[in-house]
Amino acid sequence: ATHLVWFRNDLRVNDNLALAAACRDPHARVVAIFIATAHQWRQHEMSPRQAEFIWLHLQSLHTSLADRGIELFIHQVDGFDESVECLNTFCEAQQVDALFYNYQYELNERRRDAAVEKAFGSNVICQGFDDSVLLPPGSVTTGNHEMYKVFTPFSKAFIKRLREALPECVTAPKIRGVILPETNKLTVFDYPRQPVDERLFPIGEQQAINQLRQFCRQPVADYHELRDFPAVDGTSRLSAYLAIGVLSPRQCLHRLLKEHPQALEGGAGAIWLNELIWREFYRHLLVAYPKLCRHQPFIPWTDNVAWRQDETQFIAWQQGCTGFPIVDAAMRQLNKTGWMHNRLRMVVASFLVKDLLIDWRCGERYFMSQLIDGDLAANNGGWQWAASTGTDAAPYFRIFNPTTQGERFDAKGEFIRQWLPELSSVPDKYIHTPWVWADKQPLTLDYPRPIVDHKQARIATLAAYEVARKSE
Ligand code: FAD
Repeated sequence: ATHLVWFRNDLRVNDNLALAAACRDPHARVVAIFIATAHQWRQHEMSPRQAEFIWLHLQSLHTSLADRGIELFIHQVDGFDESVECLNTFCEAQQVDALFYNYQYELNERRRDAAVEKAFGSNVICQGFDDSVLLPPGSVTTGNHEMYKVFTPFSKAFIKRLREALPECVTAPKIRGVILPETNKLTVFDYPRQPVDERLFPIGEQQAINQLRQFCRQPVADYHELRDFPAVDGTSRLSAYLAIGVLSPRQCLHRLLKEHPQALEGGAGAIWLNELIWREFYRHLLVAYPKLCRHQPFIPWTDNVAWRQDETQFIAWQQGCTGFPIVDAAMRQLNKTGWMHNRLRMVVASFLVKDLLIDWRCGERYFMSQLIDGDLAANNGGWQWAASTGTDAAPYFRIFNPTTQGERFDAKGEFIRQWLPELSSVPDKYIHTPWVWADKQPLTLDYPRPIVDHKQARIATLAAYEVARKSE
């Protein structure tokens, strides 16, 4: 028999449920495919940095699979419709009997998979797996069998389930007793790519595992104290690997519990576990509410907010030229590295939506186009949280003050100075309000004055939300 593994966002050999299932029969011939869909990726705003990260990991996956006697092919088509045809042709040519793949939970992806299963009928047996989550979407529900709309009870129910039974990791497949024909050379897909800083994101599955191990040894125990300070390296930085599946959440959970067995009981590491559960929450929500994949807010009345269309201010936000140092430093970190600290994602998202009154979907799209860890569920969840349009979001009348956020989480401006060298001469006391210092000198800084007055913007935003709410 010939078994095909269709790799998508699961670019690893360890703890890969579809790969392990395909390899279970030692006599089967196992082949693998990855189908690049540039047109679809463009529609989903996949960032050139994530494309590069995928390409680099496809190369290392190609080698690890070849070492195990499994050949990986890369095909390239336009969109998801064409990928169904591509798979069909491939299966005929390779005489595939069974297809193994790990579910993706976004709407277009689920439609594509349904079309594949339909096209194959009984010719090729298809098996899908809930691999990118700790617990399958739909399996953690309220007493009424509904998806939770609030995170805390979801998290409690989730932890209870984990205490009853942990999802197990599966091992990497053994070396198969076949000699591969000379392995094919991979041809890179046709999609813009942008270099990845490998000091921040080392390439390879083993590197990701090492980073996880290192983080779970000590930093995870200090996470609750350090995670909010962007100048400190206090978080795991594993999101890029989790987003394309170089690492699985089960590997994260087991490594955490190995080092900190009390994490499930609220002991050391519990707060980090909670972040992994936020990731699950947003994935489970996508499946329960497909409208989240269709650019719709969870709370319908918020669609009536009269967003401002101010291209100049939107560009100032994108480029990190708003005159609010913490916002600008964060946006420059994003533009330069493809990653942004979680506290700052909340700050800049709030600023775009609540200070500039620009539609959260513009920010969501821009983030996707830059992030190395771009992930529809987490990104949409984060934006709808910040915009107060989502489940269990910040109430719309709670508005971050960008200056105070900077003062609280980057008191001495260490992070700001790292990304805004033009403020290096500004004393600590004025690092969050450099224009005040410049006026006092007086001197001219090579840095913009604030593009909005926060107090006025706050009043205008509250009014705009209020009008929208009343029009319900
Ligand atoms: P850690 O703090 O070490 O957390 C461990 C893992 O838990 C992360 O790698 C991530 O997979 C998950 N996680 C942590 N926080 C969250 C969260 N709030 N929601 C969902 N998962 C979480 N995360 C993405 O992976 N992709 C995105 O596209 C994305 N967009 C975001 C947009 C906004 C507006 C906001 C507010 C948050 C967004 N996040 C996103 C969540 C979070 O900011 C990142 O996951 C985190 O900063 C990644 O850094 P880390 O790996 O060091 O996280």
